[in-house]
Amino acid sequence: MIEVIQALHPAVLVAAVFVFGLLIGSFLNVVILRYPRRLLHDWQCQCRELLELEPPTDQPPPDLVKSRSHCPSCRNTIAWYDNIPVISWIVLGRKCRHCGTSIAFRYPLVELATAILSAVVIWHFGASTEGLAALVLTWTLIAATGIDIDHQLLPDQVTLPLLWLGLALNLWLGLFATLEDAVIGAIAGYGSLWLVYHGFRLATGKEGMGYGDFKLLGALGAWLGWQALPMIILGASLVGAIVGLVLMVAMRRGREIPIAFGPYLAAAGWIAMIWGDRILDFWLVY
Ligand SMILES: [Zn+2]
Repeated sequence: MIEVIQALHPAVLVAAVFVFGLLIGSFLNVVILRYPRRLLHDWQCQCRELLELEPPTDQPPPDLVKSRSHCPSCRNTIAWYDNIPVISWIVLGRKCRHCGTSIAFRYPLVELATAILSAVVIWHFGASTEGLAALVLTWTLIAATGIDIDHQLLPDQVTLPLLWLGLALNLWLGLFATLEDAVIGAIAGYGSLWLVYHGFRLATGKEGMGYGDFKLLGALGAWLGWQALPMIILGASLVGAIVGLVLMVAMRRGREIPIAFGPYLAAAGWIAMIWGDRILDFWLVY
């Protein structure tokens, strides 16, 4: 199987991964939409159990895999031919077939972004173990980004397995960093933002970010090694500041409205994974 995939022409491989990425993106849309709701429901059940109350009576949110997709407005199940990534959105004129409610642009956007980023990963790493691992990291970062934008939340159930997986891959395969660099990366990634958070809180009495951000940066350190961390923090802060300013001016958002930091960390981490070596070389030379 591996030989067959590796024998493919690079262009064919990248095109195939692009199409596969559209399908994965479609699933990530479901994850971003449903997973936080399921988490919230679980937390409510646990809280009620702790308080020795009856479990909540409302229906649990739909399962990630088993429940079919339905229109959030009219609740009609979406047929498979209306659920083809990007294409159905265009063919249906951006509207639900049944009730005509417009379908948000974010759905095809997530599908396209997943396809493009997946194609870049395989174009860069080729059909290799690195490529496969990088795809897993890419998809996880996209899901984390979507959930963080919607809920200002980076679930432990996403960030912690990502951290352990990064350490394990570097332990057994040394994919992106040596084990030593990966462990230092995990500690320094978590620790640096922990210090910034508590320093900021002591200085201003406000909370600037969440613990999920520390765990995400710890995970990126575990995957890519500590050497990637300065680049990720600088890149995320720079882009975060620019986007924050634009949002404040364009949408007249106050400075007090929280803006998720996770998406910038995820984006900077992904760029560091693909072009980190080149960026480091550039810095060291100039
Ligand atoms: Zn509908």
